[in-house]
Amino acid sequence: MATKAARVVKTVSAVRETIAQWRAAGDTIAFAPTMGNLHAGHMSLASLSAAAARRVVMSIFVNPTQFGPKEDFGAYPRTLDADRALIDAAGNVDLLFVPEPEEIYPFGLEDAVRVQLPALSRELCGAYRPGHFDGVATVVCRLLNIVTPDVLFLGQKDYQQLVLVERMIADLRMPVELRMAPTLREDDGLAMSSRNRYLDAAERKRAPALHAALVRVREQLAGGRDFDESTAAARAELERAGFRPDYVEIRRQGDLQPADPQRAEPRIVLGAAWLGRARLIDNLLV
Ligand code: AMP
Repeated sequence: MATKAARVVKTVSAVRETIAQWRAAGDTIAFAPTMGNLHAGHMSLASLSAAAARRVVMSIFVNPTQFGPKEDFGAYPRTLDADRALIDAAGNVDLLFVPEPEEIYPFGLEDAVRVQLPALSRELCGAYRPGHFDGVATVVCRLLNIVTPDVLFLGQKDYQQLVLVERMIADLRMPVELRMAPTLREDDGLAMSSRNRYLDAAERKRAPALHAALVRVREQLAGGRDFDESTAAARAELERAGFRPDYVEIRRQGDLQPADPQRAEPRIVLGAAWLGRARLIDNLLV
């Protein structure tokens, strides 16, 4: 397969110019937004995008509006040179958009127009990260207006984000098709994440316990165990492994509403837990 170096642009007008040329040629466009510090999970979004459309756009933008005041916006790993090397080695990204905050928020952060999501945005991770998902929706809305892709790829690892973006797209009648990319994992089960960098060597060894705890819940559900019992057991298991769990919950797939134990419906088990200074999240479809 012929590879290509991605064209790197920093401005909205440069993105728009390129998109206009592609549209004039009849090309379809797939888009994978990221915050950089790219790993194989991100690159899987690029290859799924390349299979879904003629042209692939990736963005790298550490979005200030989705971080709380005490969160890791300043510390978040910014590794643009390594990211570009990975993208060019993969050879399947046409355009890499790397804007400065002023390009995405031309009126400043205080005076930015914001997207306000419905109640689900304040549950699960949203209960522990107030305003986080509104910030995500605010930036995804802007990026979609800039890139105007046919297809948007988001990862299953951030399932609540995916469901909320899906809702935004439907409710705001945004003309884009959302597709989910499966979670890529390390060999020991740990979901790949930029925040895994925060783990020291001892924590990294214990980190797969989050995935293992969710696997156990999935097994127990298959065996008919009570939902609350199995999630309480998972939280206890995480605490024994040195985590500080935020939550382990069983919800309905698709809309993340509470799962009804009496009904046979597709479910998802989701967990979030702190290990040292890393807040790890993961989920499994059940
Ligand atoms: P981030 O840079 O963390 O904002 O992630 C950018 C996109 O990559 C999001 O749609 C994530 O869900 C997705 N992503 C992150 N980690 C993984 C992974 N391990 N496997 C697949 N997709 C992922």
